[in-house]
Amino acid sequence: MTDLTANSRLIDPFGRSVSYLRLSVTDRCDLRCQYCMSEKMTFLPRDQVLSLEELYRVAAVFEGLGVSKIRVTGGEPLIRKGVDGLLRDIGKLAGINQLAITTNGTQLASRALVLKQAGVTALNISLDTLDHDRFNQVTRVGSLTQVLKGIDAACEQGFERVRLNSVVMPDDNLDDCLDLMYFAISKGIDIAFIEEMPLQQKGSKRQHDYVMSERLRAYLSQHEELRSSNIDTGGPARYWQTSSGTRVGFISPMSHNFCGDCNRVRVTVEGKLLLCLGNDNAIDLRAMMRDGASDQQLREAVIQAMQLKPERHHFDIDNNIEVVRFMSETGG
Ligand code: SAM
Ligand code: SF4
Repeated sequence: MTDLTANSRLIDPFGRSVSYLRLSVTDRCDLRCQYCMSEKMTFLPRDQVLSLEELYRVAAVFEGLGVSKIRVTGGEPLIRKGVDGLLRDIGKLAGINQLAITTNGTQLASRALVLKQAGVTALNISLDTLDHDRFNQVTRVGSLTQVLKGIDAACEQGFERVRLNSVVMPDDNLDDCLDLMYFAISKGIDIAFIEEMPLQQKGSKRQHDYVMSERLRAYLSQHEELRSSNIDTGGPARYWQTSSGTRVGFISPMSHNFCGDCNRVRVTVEGKLLLCLGNDNAIDLRAMMRDGASDQQLREAVIQAMQLKPERHHFDIDNNIEVVRFMSETGG
């Protein structure tokens, strides 16, 4: 595994080195997943959204500071017009050795080849159930058939890595997790189960919907041997491995604080540099760029911003929850 932190000039007050940027290219989406968006969303007006040139500039500034992994996300990144060209340009930045996308998979059947050609190395594809009705219920508008075709197209392209992301919702899909794990094994790809995070409005019923990773892992282990492993892909997942080699990851923001080795920051599609998913410390890169800041000034602002990175987030099911943003706004 490449040491992502080796060249980073971004060090926070707790000695953590930031080498991974999650860059959101849109807040819009063709789905409306229950845990991520409300049914009726208001999206940002176009002038508040970073242009493709501004997005590239942000990527280049971070690359100049030693960031070596960029994950392009959203909203649904593949519905942003011009994203293929943006990816191609980011992929050419000399310091970027991992260019990843997180996608809902709806566009992949026709786009997987273009993404591979653009230099994308890894795909995370969201899939919470293999049941058609339930998929439609969770996503409100989606077609599972379309996503399954997209997953097949991605598998054919031979990306370095394809991983399914499954948000675990007790009311909706706990009993699907086993099927999802076997589906990943059958496709020869990885899977990560994510505890649902309370990123919506306070008072929403979804605040209490989450399943502890430990409980899920114990359940899956009753059916398939999961060997512990120290695989580190530079993200928050902790991995176990099946005998076939599929990595089964657990992302546990609720039950296990994963902040100790946090190496990442996010830039929203409005150009806000967010230092932590779990609080609102941010600086406004869009305002700086539109006020004529030089690349050097942007780099200095980003270095300074590292001082705002908190030691940890405080998602907590019983106490005050800090974050009230939608995941699609934050950039998942
Ligand atoms: N549209 C793309 C997709 O669905 O993969 C990328 C953006 S989405 C916001 C990124 C990831 O965040 C997805 O894997 C999604 O399942 C996850 N996500 C969204 N809301 C979440 C929540 N409340 N808790 C945990 N994960 C969430
Ligand atoms: Fe769209 Fe992804 Fe959010 Fe689902 S999780 S609504 S696909 S942005």
